[in-house]
Amino acid sequence: MNPQITSTQTGASEAASPTYPVGSDKVQVRNIGVLTSGGDAPGMNAAIRAVVRSALNYGLNVYGIYRGYHGLWRGDIQPLNGRSVSERLQRGGTFLMTARSETFKTPEGVAKGIAMAKVFNLDALVIIGGDGSIRGARDLALMGMPVVCIPGTIDNDVACTDYTIGYDTAMNTAMEAIDKLRDTASSHERCSVIEVMGREAGYIALNVGISCGAEVVLIPEQPHDFNRDVIKRLLECRNRGKTHYIVVTAEGAGSAVDIAYRIEEKTGISARATILGHLQRGGSPSARDRQMASIMGVRAVEILRSGQLNRIVAYKNGDVTDVDLLEGLKMTKTISMDAIRDSLIIAL
Ligand code: ADP
Repeated sequence: MNPQITSTQTGASEAASPTYPVGSDKVQVRNIGVLTSGGDAPGMNAAIRAVVRSALNYGLNVYGIYRGYHGLWRGDIQPLNGRSVSERLQRGGTFLMTARSETFKTPEGVAKGIAMAKVFNLDALVIIGGDGSIRGARDLALMGMPVVCIPGTIDNDVACTDYTIGYDTAMNTAMEAIDKLRDTASSHERCSVIEVMGREAGYIALNVGISCGAEVVLIPEQPHDFNRDVIKRLLECRNRGKTHYIVVTAEGAGSAVDIAYRIEEKTGISARATILGHLQRGGSPSARDRQMASIMGVRAVEILRSGQLNRIVAYKNGDVTDVDLLEGLKMTKTISMDAIRDSLIIAL
């Protein structure tokens, strides 16, 4: 049996088994609002484009809600047409812009958002964002506003789907940066410590670490012993003839600056820290992100047309599918211990 590290994404409000208001499955959708929320991710524009063009094709009206939930309750809403999404496919970021809204986390904020959606006669919302945004969507759904979510976050940490829009581009961006750092670390016989995004999820760190042959990978899901997992490991690498080293840490597993300082202090190996930060969020989306975003956007409109509501578009076992919003938020996602073990074996 493969040991797994499990991160549960179930919040307190799911435990009480809430249900959607009676009749919210009987809505006939004619006017759709679309918004992007939370951290931006490459491919969000491609998803918006797919939603807009697909909805227009079926005679539905689409409204862009600017600046996420903040823009919803402020009424920052404009009709979109086929040309509104021209030349967006290949661009990073989100032209609808995104924001974080503390107001929206309160029942009053959600009610205000629904009231504004009614002003614009919006029958349903397509919400593109990460785990937090999907929780916001749940609050809308539980107060009677039908929603469909598309998972968009570079962290790949939405439990009900194997893939989130932006993850592939972010991984490639980080990989290219680390390859460059490897060149200079090699020339100076140094240790390069790179901090990648992931406060609670280690998907980027682990998989970029594997892609770059990192000697050490630290992720938040697995607590580490610094002496054993970093210092001893680097010394083992040195004893095997390695002259330069890559340490990848997810931001939630430790600070690159602190780790580099401690490595130099304890081993005498010259160490430098690099924090990739928001660099990982930007850039033209990869082919995979454009393709996944396009397919997921079309799926979101299909869901609304078929009369199903309150769903999360998901990618499971190689297929784009969808799951119930409340069920999806109860799911858990695992990082394979085998992947961690394998990354250690092949980096030596
Ligand atoms: P992401 O969607 O990338 O995970 P955030 O966690 O920042 O980004 O969430 C984006 C927005 O979604 C927040 O600013 C807030 O308006 C809303 N949100 C986040 N968490 C919750 C929650 N638990 N309940 C309701 N709304 C939430």
